[in-house]
Parts: sequence; C-alpha cells; structure tokens
Amino acid sequence: MLSADFLDLGKEMEMVNAKADLIHLDVMDGVFVPNISFGFPVVEAIARCARKPMDVHLMITDPAKYAERFASAGAAMISFHLEAVPEPVELLRKIRSLGVKAGLAINPDIPVERLFPFLEEVDFVLIMSVFAGFGGQSFIEASHGRIAAVRDEIERRSLDVAIEVDGGISSRNIAALEKDGASMFVAGSSVFKAEDPAAEIDFMRSVR
Ligand code: ZN
Repeated sequence: MLSADFLDLGKEMEMVNAKADLIHLDVMDGVFVPNISFGFPVVEAIARCARKPMDVHLMITDPAKYAERFASAGAAMISFHLEAVPEPVELLRKIRSLGVKAGLAINPDIPVERLFPFLEEVDFVLIMSVFAGFGGQSFIEASHGRIAAVRDEIERRSLDVAIEVDGGISSRNIAALEKDGASMFVAGSSVFKAEDPAAEIDFMRSVR
C-alpha cells in the first residue's frame, strides 16, 4: 500500500480487495530505515475496509514494543527485520501466540544463511529484493539466488515456511521468482503506477 494514493485510499482499497491476495503494509519509523511511512491511524483505517488478510512489514527498530498493537489492529501476518532483532525467537513466538503468522525479514546485504537457525520458528521469511526504506527501487538480480538458497534449505529440512519477496516485483520477474521458490510477491509501484492497476495484477497472475 506504500505506493497507493493516500488521498483516495478508499478507492485503492476497493481495487486491492478485489484483486490482491494480501494487503502488504510497510511500516517505517525513520530510525531503522531513513524514511517514515504511516502508523496506526492509517493501518486501522485500512483494517476497517480490508477484505483480504493484512500483512504488516515492520521496518522499525523496536518491533517487540508494537507487535501486539498491530495484531489488535487486525494484522494476519507480521514480519520484522533480523537486523533490528538479532535474537528474534521470543518475538516470533509472541507473534504466533497472538494467532498471527510470524515472519522474519532481511535486507539484500545480509547473508540468507543468517535466517537458517530460525526457520523452525517462522511461518514465512521475507527476502527484500531492494533495500528497505523506499518504494519504487529497481529489483536486485542477486535476489534470485538468495531465494533459491532459502528454498533449498527449507526443502532439505522439510519445513513448512513460505517465502515472500518484496521490492521491484513486476510482470518481468514474477515467473522467475516463483521458480526460485517464492510464493508471496509484494508489488507496489508496478501495480499502483500502472495505467490500470487491476489489469496489472491480472497480468502478473497470467505470466506466472
Ligand atoms: Zn514490505
């Protein structure tokens, strides 16, 4: 939703409710990332009209402080960054105890192997394919190999962990990313900046 028209969020939500599988909300605190996005008033407004699960991606330094409040606001999934919480097990368990799917996110410069000790504790991992902080960045090609490496490890250990990819996703790379092992694709500007966002989501599904 970071790329949506916030002056016309109601209309944007109609499109997203009709076309998307998840509503991905990028929450930034201006400390963990050099940008501030939106907070509870916007998340709660979206929650009131959301008809698809809300996927809250916390790009904040202290996710433990706010996880419960995002769960109360209606999040079905909450992810936070391993860079922000190097010992993430307690928070992952807390999120799951709230009945919310827990995810661990990493930026493109963090080796994916750093996720491996925690794969038993997560419902999904979020592989950033741009650096967290801003919408509209170009996809980093090395993400393909990183996703495949995580998929191989998940398969090797027969775990039930989904791979979400976030940043620069479009009809040009979605098929390859699915082949790499990703099953959740966060598309912001490629959808909202398209002439017809609803048709763009249909097109992205058709090329998978
Ligand atoms: Zn995100």
